[in-house]
Amino acid sequence: MDQIARTLSLPESPREFGFFIDGEWRQGRELAEQRSPAHGVPVTRVARCTTGDLDDAVAAARRAFEDRSWAGISGGERAGVLLRAAEILRRRRDEVAYWEVLENGKPISQARAEIEGCIACFETAAGAARLLHGDSFNSLGDGLFGMVLREPIGVVGLITPWNFPFLILCERVPFILASGCTMVVKPSEVTSATTLILAEILAEAGLPKGVYNVVTGPGGTVGQAMAEHPDIDMLSFTGSTGVGRSCVHAAADSNFKKLGLELGGKNPIIVFADSDLEDAADAAAFGISFNTGQCCVSSSRLVVEASVADEFERLLVEKMRRIRIGDPLDEATQVGAITTEAQNRTILGYIDKGRQEGARLLAGGEVLEIGAGRFIAPTLFSGVRRDMAIARDEIFGPVLSSFRFETVDEAIAIANDTVYGLAASLWTKDLDKALTVTRRVRAGRFWVNTIMAGGPEMPLGGFRQSGWGREAGIYGVEEYTQIKSVHVEIGKRAHWIK
Ligand code: NDP
Repeated sequence: MDQIARTLSLPESPREFGFFIDGEWRQGRELAEQRSPAHGVPVTRVARCTTGDLDDAVAAARRAFEDRSWAGISGGERAGVLLRAAEILRRRRDEVAYWEVLENGKPISQARAEIEGCIACFETAAGAARLLHGDSFNSLGDGLFGMVLREPIGVVGLITPWNFPFLILCERVPFILASGCTMVVKPSEVTSATTLILAEILAEAGLPKGVYNVVTGPGGTVGQAMAEHPDIDMLSFTGSTGVGRSCVHAAADSNFKKLGLELGGKNPIIVFADSDLEDAADAAAFGISFNTGQCCVSSSRLVVEASVADEFERLLVEKMRRIRIGDPLDEATQVGAITTEAQNRTILGYIDKGRQEGARLLAGGEVLEIGAGRFIAPTLFSGVRRDMAIARDEIFGPVLSSFRFETVDEAIAIANDTVYGLAASLWTKDLDKALTVTRRVRAGRFWVNTIMAGGPEMPLGGFRQSGWGREAGIYGVEEYTQIKSVHVEIGKRAHWIK
């Protein structure tokens, strides 16, 4: 499978993938074909696994967990595998980026940068594997000593979405591995290729068989069966709030598996009059257009101080018009195609709703005819009321809604007027405002005078209906552990029966 397109042309025929259980490749009886969102041609064929395949994968992950071939080795040895995986990924970066583009539609330069981020995830997790530790209590008196052990939680199920198929995967897999857990991954059916390529990379890096298993197929059957599976100890799900809620029900009705959920967002970008408006406008254009707005942390609500709102919107429109949208295999492209037909319909539906509800369209709003692909121009609505659908719902597309405020309290109230709490970006030169707003806006990730910055050292996750738990960094590794309190008596027992 180690084939790489030397030029960035489309593949002559779709690449076929098996699925990966217990260190072996299996062939699917039925295959699903994925077409390039930007070019309309078939690019991959991926197995439609059955729930029987899932049972086999969970059994393999269970055996690999219980035989201690991964959980029982030292953090240093686990780090060795993770560092080798980082090296192999560095070597195969362009190949992984290429397949990511073909299935997802994101620009090739962005895909490569994401793989660099993935390499950093493996390196960070390697450090965390060595440093993971528990605690001790020397304060229980001379007769008792207390230890707190961190143990891997067991078999993890991992369900990932189609918007950042490889990045979201790598923000989780190395940290799950660092904890000593084994896993079964189900990528989105439309973007499974790079999750399967990772199986090759991890095997070459020396990961014992059965530790990383991949089943492919539709979320409604294979994903749902994972959420219900009685032998999965923890499920990490990234996707819509609706499916996240169904995972909560499935966990409650099966085995109370622990859940990590990273769900939707309706994230504010708050711009004060004293900020560098040019910088903030550039960030706002990036925040809504990056990955065509198919991004859980997209800043989809502009909350701008009324005194500069007209000027700011003008600057922003000018920037949005200059974004280079086009063929994602072109090195110069900044924004590519919409990944699925369903998502394309959803986004266009919201643009229509915005118009009907009386918001003022300042930029975009139209389909761009670029070859056979699905492209939508970055869109800005002004005069948005807080009860409109474009103000409340996660659109997951390049559609930005603009609101105005007069006071700091009003800015905070607008920012918090959502059921979500994933991310927020804030622009001001005033330290008091920056700290006050940072403290009072409910969001799991906060950017002050920047946007979507960060690295795998920092935890990811949301407040409110944006999810439960944190991924990445040492916090992310700890999520995949459970704590055992151990009490050791020192000396002779004081007898109960005298
Ligand atoms: P989903 O939540 O349906 O898909 C996310 C993942 O869950 C995919 O792997 C999917 O598999 C799987 N899945 C689907 N149904 C189930 C189920 N019943 N049980 C377990 N897993 C399941 O998102 P969509 O793809 O439908 O996108 C819809 C909306 O979700 C978007 O418009 C956006 O608002 C939000 N979303 C948010 C994301 C985020 O990063 N927070 C990521 C993706 C979507 P498969 O794709 O194979 O069906």
